[in-house]
Amino acid sequence: MEKNIFEKIRDGEEKADIVYRDEYITAFKDIDPNAPVHILIIPNKTIVSLNDIQEEDSSYLSNILLGAKKIAKQFNIDETGYRLITNCGSDGGQEVPYLHFHLVGGLKLGKMISLSKTEKKKFNEYKSL
Ligand code: AMP
Repeated sequence: MEKNIFEKIRDGEEKADIVYRDEYITAFKDIDPNAPVHILIIPNKTIVSLNDIQEEDSSYLSNILLGAKKIAKQFNIDETGYRLITNCGSDGGQEVPYLHFHLVGGLKLGKMISLSKTEKKKFNEYKSL
């Protein structure tokens, strides 16, 4: 099966601005950033999404969190704060089928969840059921 874009970045077959790498994780700048700091952190093992993690992946997962802390310090946003997000599946807005965490910061972030007007209306209807 053809590798997806993050597998190619992980394997050095596609160019990316890699900012951190160790035995467990690779982190690189998002190609279309939404904040002054927007880094993607991936495990060095193909895992499609949070739905697919297994007990045996715990070292990858803990190192993603430890890596996020290190990278936040590296980019001087550890004191000002940041957000770590993973999108899962279609409703979560996941575009690339390879588990990744967005580390974003460098400005005051807006609301955590922003819904379109249609979705907000649907949600309000659901709440009143
Ligand atoms: P998600 O919607 O959570 O799957 O996020 C996918 C992210 O990958 C988006 O923010 C894209 O801008 C980013 N992205 C896609 N291709 C690349 C690439 N070649 N290098 C860096 N970031 C990428």
